[in-house]
Amino acid sequence: MTSPERIRWRRSVAVGDPAAGRLLRGVRLPSSGEHFFTWDPVKRRSPNRYWRRWGTDRLVRLLLRVAREYHTAHPGAPRMAIGDLSRPGGGDFGPQFGYIGHATHQNGLDADVYYPRADGLERAPRYASQINRRLSQELVDRFVAAGAVIVYVGPNTGLRGPPGVVQAIVNHDNHLHVRIR
Ligand SMILES: [Zn+2]
Repeated sequence: MTSPERIRWRRSVAVGDPAAGRLLRGVRLPSSGEHFFTWDPVKRRSPNRYWRRWGTDRLVRLLLRVAREYHTAHPGAPRMAIGDLSRPGGGDFGPQFGYIGHATHQNGLDADVYYPRADGLERAPRYASQINRRLSQELVDRFVAAGAVIVYVGPNTGLRGPPGVVQAIVNHDNHLHVRIR
């Protein structure tokens, strides 16, 4: 399945901080592609809405690359599930945008990626008990190897990585959160 959406590449600027920032000339991640699909955490369906999938060009490139390499390694596994990035111009992405919102995701450097499910369905898991731990750890490792500065994982997932980069925090038992520099 290929996406009809073409990516409009441009040099983006991440302004300020992930918790208080903006995004200039952001790039929109397509709703799906050969190697990934997107997931709306509020409506709990695929694809994610267009205004929740904006990042810097570097972030979008990194997501596409990890998704491609992961899918190539596991052609029979579900495609990588990408959730929220930032809003079109960045800025506040709090609870007024649905569910619990995000304290960060404000300047195009953050993305949520759902763990692969143990049952192989292409939808987001809800609980740590539903994830394929081996494939989830592999995704964490791939983002660390790709140069992520932070990968948040859930405390009940058992996922690990280099201290200071991979950190366990609440509300991340069904997805990892990756941040680039
Ligand atoms: Zn996040």
